[in-house]
Amino acid sequence: MKIKADYSNVPQWRELSIKSRLPKELECLDELAHNMWWSWNYEAREMWESLDEALYEEVGHNPVLLLERLSYDRKEAIVKDKATMKRVKDVYAAFRKYMDVKPDKKRPSVAYFCMEYGINQVVKIYSGGLGMLAGDYLKEASDSNVDMCAVGFLYRYGYFKQSLSIDGQQIANYDAQNFNSLPVERQLDASGNPLVVEVPYMNYVVHAYVWRMNVGRISLYLLDTDNELNSEFDRPITHSLYGGDWENRLKQEILLGIGGILTLKKLGITKQIYHCNEGHAALCNLQRLCDYVEGGLSFNQAMELVRASSLYTVHTPVPAGHDYFDETLFGKYMGNYPAKLGISWDEFIGMGRENPDDHSERFCLSTFACNTCQEVNGVSKLHGWVSQQMFAPIWKGYYPEENHVGYVTNGVHFPSWTATEWRKLYAKYFDANFMNDQSNESIWHAIYNVPDTEIWDTRMALKRKLVDYIRGKFTETWLKNQGDPSRVVSLLERINPNALMVGFCRRFATYKRAHLLFTDLDRLSKIVNNPDRPVQFIFSGKAHPADGAGQGLIKTIFEISQRPEFLGKIIFLEDYDMQLARRLVSGVDIWMNTPTRPLEASGTSGEKAEMNGVVNLSVLDGWWVEGYRENAGWALPEKRTYENQNYQDQLDAATIYGLLENDILPLYYATNEQGYSEGWIQVIKNSIATIAPHYTMKRQLDDYYTKFYEKQAARYTKLQANDNRMAKDLAQWKENVAERWDAIRVVSKDNEFLNNGGETGVKYKVRYVIDEQGLQDAIGLELVILKADNSDSEKKVFSIHPFKMTGHEGNRYTFEVTVEPDEAGAFVSCVRMYPKNNLLPHRQDFCYVKWLD
Ligand SMILES: *Cc1c(COP(=O)(O)O)cnc(C)c1O
Repeated sequence: MKIKADYSNVPQWRELSIKSRLPKELECLDELAHNMWWSWNYEAREMWESLDEALYEEVGHNPVLLLERLSYDRKEAIVKDKATMKRVKDVYAAFRKYMDVKPDKKRPSVAYFCMEYGINQVVKIYSGGLGMLAGDYLKEASDSNVDMCAVGFLYRYGYFKQSLSIDGQQIANYDAQNFNSLPVERQLDASGNPLVVEVPYMNYVVHAYVWRMNVGRISLYLLDTDNELNSEFDRPITHSLYGGDWENRLKQEILLGIGGILTLKKLGITKQIYHCNEGHAALCNLQRLCDYVEGGLSFNQAMELVRASSLYTVHTPVPAGHDYFDETLFGKYMGNYPAKLGISWDEFIGMGRENPDDHSERFCLSTFACNTCQEVNGVSKLHGWVSQQMFAPIWKGYYPEENHVGYVTNGVHFPSWTATEWRKLYAKYFDANFMNDQSNESIWHAIYNVPDTEIWDTRMALKRKLVDYIRGKFTETWLKNQGDPSRVVSLLERINPNALMVGFCRRFATYKRAHLLFTDLDRLSKIVNNPDRPVQFIFSGKAHPADGAGQGLIKTIFEISQRPEFLGKIIFLEDYDMQLARRLVSGVDIWMNTPTRPLEASGTSGEKAEMNGVVNLSVLDGWWVEGYRENAGWALPEKRTYENQNYQDQLDAATIYGLLENDILPLYYATNEQGYSEGWIQVIKNSIATIAPHYTMKRQLDDYYTKFYEKQAARYTKLQANDNRMAKDLAQWKENVAERWDAIRVVSKDNEFLNNGGETGVKYKVRYVIDEQGLQDAIGLELVILKADNSDSEKKVFSIHPFKMTGHEGNRYTFEVTVEPDEAGAFVSCVRMYPKNNLLPHRQDFCYVKWLD
């Protein structure tokens, strides 16, 4: 035999994690590091920092990495250091006290699904507002001690890190996260092995590992497909957030919804409410339908239960925020589901279409969510109304304002976003029960008792902190992309904590109009270069890598910031993340937002500013429509003046310049001998006292319970009682109605008033006799009157007059209504018939409508 020149096989690398050994006295630190509780408790963060300040900076404030890197010598030194050990013990005691409280089972239990979570910058599984909201929600759920768990992804690369090239081009860098160095733990199964969830995809399965992030008392389960059990085509499912092609997006949404429910099943978790935070998660309802059907219910019965127990929160009216899949791609992955549900393919895909029978329509997850969730809500009052209109095509037969889309205005988690300096100040002056009663405005009014100087000193301390942070963090970056080093030096010198600082920091989506300020550069230059009243604008934010226009905006602002007259006056800070956001929302004087109305569904960064004595200057859109109070911030007018967006932009820009020149700058620089403006402090106090209390995450969480969860859980319980009796009855009733619907007919009518019109102040009777075709009192009638003076598209409901069922002979039901017009004019009217049953939660739950002749 010839000896081969070389002979070796391929190694099967196995993960080998080596934990850094902790002295016994410090063992509690490992537990502390693996619970995100530290991220919203400053005593804990200060404790981590005290272990090794330089290292804490180096590891980006990640306690797990800190412990991993801390040398054994240093650990032993800590054990001998009495002051530090006391700190460790105190923090751990506070943590245990928090954790050992028994869970409150009085409120309904909730499973929460979302594509992204912004818990802390060390875990890069968020991109923007949606993630912040979800992260803040879980933290508040923990603080409020409710029964909640959540599902998301542990992305290998997460969202990108942003840098700018020398000409202002955004560069997206994707760094892999090492999960073992993150504050997450592998979820194990009963026998101590890594839990693996098998998620069906077409004719094979994808294996997901599950990581658990402890968010205080709440478990956040994070799925991860990047493992050796999967093919190279499936490992990337959880690689990046909002990256990849449409096929990968669909695979992600299958994983989140279907995989998410399978994960909870595997963990033995069932909840009363399933909350789809954004349409991405809507397929959780599909898996739940399958489970009920597998358990012996019909599709229609299953639907009753799934709908009753699920809520869909929509977060944007911008089309790019809603996912659509064409039939071929959708069919490739979902082809097996109709058989599992006992319905046809067309019926199945129809659940994601506004017009179920229109084969050219793609499957839309948002539509599917509307069709499978009993309740739908927007994230501010205005956005609730915008969503009623956006989803109107789904519920034909009703006018937008009749649709069952509600709203809960977004809030922010107070302890996460309020600077330590302010928290200490609030603790000193506010009622001791403040943290448990955050929405109580009267407590916040204690801010009026705080001496002006204390407010001003706090503000200045935070401004200086921001300036130091910028100098420390960006010098190196700028040396790379600002070209001339002398320019960098001059830029750094010009950042001036005594200037009025305005922040504009958020995702660079074009509707947010970051360019607005630059509409008239001459006027802007005069404003920022007035030596008596200096102003600095700080911009920061990422554009989605596929959003060319958003990246163009960044480039434009970067270029303007380099012009001599704007150097150090317009500053762009790269890589906006939670840490930078925390500095900015507490460090600047004014938080500016200039979205195109009404596209900012809520916006939350301005709410973070409120908690930190930073006042808002914003378009009356999203939360600010509700939040704005006079003498507590500034608002751009509500009315849209121009159809033409360019004119509107010019007008809005002129309004901002005018506000700065005439109101804001004169007020800010009306300083007294002590160097601050009393008028300005008054605005700060007003905004803290009257605005901040209404935008905490506590208020938001409480709203979800009172407006949705409690109502839904009660109904869901009723539907399920006695082997799902009511769900079965309701499904049966709907089937009966649906079967006879087309045959229901008008036998006779007396509707002269509708034909001939009438006069104000006179009573008119309208009567219909309907043959209900064997149904018993199963329909309602109402007279709908619209005002006719506008063009067709603008017709609004003027009045609705419900008929009374006054009696019946066999199947013939008589309905009567008396109308007494109180306004003269041109109207149109028609009689609407709908299925009526007290067990229905609202009309669109069974959206059959017949307009009668
Ligand atoms: C708060 C926050 C957002 C959301 O801000 P909006 O005002 O809603 O646009 C986005 N990114 C980060 C890092 C944040 O902290």
